[in-house]
Amino acid sequence: MPAPDSLRQIPSVASLLQRDEIRSLLARYPRAVVLEAMRKLLDECRGEALREKGPGRPREEWISRLLAALPGAIAEGDEITLRRVINATGIVVHTNLGRAPLSEEAVRAVTATAAGYSNLEFDLAGGTRSRRLVHVEEMLLALTGAESVHVVNNNAAAVFLCLAAMARGKDVIVSRGELVEIGGSFRIPEILAASGANLVEVGTTNRTRSTDYERAVGPATALLLKVHRSNFRVTGFTEEVSTADLAVLGSRFGIPVMEDLGSGAVFDFAGAGIPGTPTIRQALAQGPGIVTVSGDKLLGGPQAGIIAGRKDLVDPLKKHPLSRVLRIDKLCLAALAATLLLYADERRAAARLPVLEMILEGEEIARSRARKLIAKVRRQRAPAGRRDGSSAGDSVAGPGGVPAAGTGLTLHVEPSVSSPGGGAMPEVEIPTACVAVSHPHIRVEELEARLRKGIPPVVGRIAKGKLLLDMRTVRDGELAELAAALSASVREPEDRK
Ligand SMILES: *Cc1c(COP(=O)(O)O)cnc(C)c1O
Repeated sequence: MPAPDSLRQIPSVASLLQRDEIRSLLARYPRAVVLEAMRKLLDECRGEALREKGPGRPREEWISRLLAALPGAIAEGDEITLRRVINATGIVVHTNLGRAPLSEEAVRAVTATAAGYSNLEFDLAGGTRSRRLVHVEEMLLALTGAESVHVVNNNAAAVFLCLAAMARGKDVIVSRGELVEIGGSFRIPEILAASGANLVEVGTTNRTRSTDYERAVGPATALLLKVHRSNFRVTGFTEEVSTADLAVLGSRFGIPVMEDLGSGAVFDFAGAGIPGTPTIRQALAQGPGIVTVSGDKLLGGPQAGIIAGRKDLVDPLKKHPLSRVLRIDKLCLAALAATLLLYADERRAAARLPVLEMILEGEEIARSRARKLIAKVRRQRAPAGRRDGSSAGDSVAGPGGVPAAGTGLTLHVEPSVSSPGGGAMPEVEIPTACVAVSHPHIRVEELEARLRKGIPPVVGRIAKGKLLLDMRTVRDGELAELAAALSASVREPEDRK
């Protein structure tokens, strides 16, 4: 047991507040932030004092320990916890990492709209009140070929609104193979229940036929719903009813058909050799009355839920009270408008929208980025006399890898596969190049954690005992930071701070 004395040597908050050093911090930062940082550090000191053996530290030592650590602790507390992260997972639309990065055009539109007033709901020509969706409607109609479109907060809201408006108190028929859960909390049966619609399940997990839907149709049927299996696939002895066949059935009975596409695209990925995701236009051509998609998946825009389809079905949604509850905010609207504008020219969209660029980029570009990263790490720590970047490009690609001078890290280029992610194209794998990172004395789990906790945080993946940094989702502009993060990850904890 340590003597209670050692605890008594730790200064009190009140006594610290009298000190000039603290007063000068209080002049620069909010009092609450300074106090919180002090309390946190004092707790740490108490923990250390209790673990200490022997006579313990004198008061002056505790004070200098606190004063040294305080600016760092304050800076941490004065920063928002939502940070930019370097995504080296190779998952392009990564839900946990914020899904689609925006184009520069969309970022500019957000900044301009955020910092001042805008004509969000104001008709500048007439000087009268207007609607916020006028800023995206025409573009969406042109890009999707729909008769009418509506936009809400996200795709979950889009599905919920459609169900509540079209099927409250009535039956919605869904295949048992499509009663899916997407991203934790979006579960089709639960959304249906919350909307007030009754779920009528048909078929089995692996097989559902047209006759299953047909038998379930009754006087209370309001909707036939098809849900895209975004994050898994069913293989083997399977059968499902195509949207086209469902549309035929719906028109025979006079019942609307809706398809929750999830990650609907505007860009034709199949045309670029990546099958699996129909465009919104192609989906509508199959005949459903309504399709819903996310704005921040393969569309490459901000969070939004886009509803496209027949005028008689979509128009009433705009007047539903829930539309006000679920409306898109002005920043997302600004980003969506800028994103859609890029699609006026497909080639421009492919070059300017980060999601499209990352998915369509050839493997050789990822490989050259991997080589650039390795060369940068080598240059960073190489002693002055050994800065010959010339050999870096070839030698690092060797199977065993070449130690990056000075860091002790071994880096080499490793072929692998990336994934579009975001519940889009679960079966698609895109060939890519990673930088495999290892160190003779640091386990890969530890390296992974150090990079993840660094500034900026770097998120990679561990596969078959290797730490892989996938260069498909890392941008050229991030390479210098990433190289610095790698060098920092092998330094001792004290120097890493
Ligand atoms: C992603 C997804 C959703 C949820 O969309 P959010 O925009 O995240 O609300 C709903 N349905 C399907 C099929 C999805 O893939």
